[in-house]
Amino acid sequence: MNIGIVGLGLIGGSIGLDLRALGYQVFGVSRRNQTCQKAIALGAVDEASLELSLLSIADLIFICTPISIIIPTLEQLIPFISPSAILTDVGSVKKPIVEGVSQIWPNFVGGHPMAGKAESGIEVAQLGLFRDRPYVLTPTENTPLESVEKVEAIVSLLQSQVYFCNPYEHDRAVAWISHLPVMASASLISACMSETHPTVVKLAQELASSGFRDTSRVGGGNPELGRMMAQYNRLEVLRSLYSFREEINRFIEDIEQENWQIIEEKLSSTEQSRKLFLQE
Ligand code: NAP
Repeated sequence: MNIGIVGLGLIGGSIGLDLRALGYQVFGVSRRNQTCQKAIALGAVDEASLELSLLSIADLIFICTPISIIIPTLEQLIPFISPSAILTDVGSVKKPIVEGVSQIWPNFVGGHPMAGKAESGIEVAQLGLFRDRPYVLTPTENTPLESVEKVEAIVSLLQSQVYFCNPYEHDRAVAWISHLPVMASASLISACMSETHPTVVKLAQELASSGFRDTSRVGGGNPELGRMMAQYNRLEVLRSLYSFREEINRFIEDIEQENWQIIEEKLSSTEQSRKLFLQE
């Protein structure tokens, strides 16, 4: 099976590294020639080009571009690919993509690997990035079963844990655990930057350690990706942010009213609840 990848950045490059290491022939297309050359040099692809026609021999194609151009890329790709080619994407939002693509290429399996880094680009692509991480597939009732099975088999080779759900449930779930954290973490960084006392600013910057590193990591990540989470998952991101705003307001009220016992009880509850999301 020949693999095609469009968008040789962090995710596309990392998929290429893994699949080449497993012996697959990988053909990559990206926007800039410099990226294509780096992808070859790093071993993420066997061949790379700026031209989508390179993917005419691909059996399974991963679209790994920014979310906003996944559907336009797919439309441009269609004239070049085999009628039996299976397409999949890695976009962090699923409903608008799956709905849009179903009109254009039924042999499409929506996907989202739940792995990433603060940095972007081919330079930070990593072998084994998806190992032991969830990889969500969002087929619909019209997706050919054989294609779903083929994508599942390849994704399993990345040593990911494969999950199936519908695109709506995916977008609502990731709003809570991925998109809201980006906005909350960015707000935390912005709030810290509102400090005006120069000595305090300098001291805070020098003292920032593991707590700040953990809570600011996703707010300090790829700005284009964060914007697209908000734009393409707008309703679910808003739903989660409204709820988050209420929680923050409750903290403010409790601290204003010196409800120390209530605050401790709340933190005891969140200490337990966190374990429901993360097995550490
Ligand atoms: P990235 O590192 O910025 O990579 C995106 C790549 O897309 C860039 O290298 C760029 O290539 C290429 N590209 C842009 N426009 C293109 C075009 N018109 N034709 C072909 N290639 C084009 O971003 P990423 O983090 O890998 O994200 C890519 C996708 O993965 C997004 O849809 C995102 O939602 C999803 N995702 C990201 C994460 C994460 O944490 N980063 C996690 C899961 C899923 P050039 O270098 O050639 O310009």
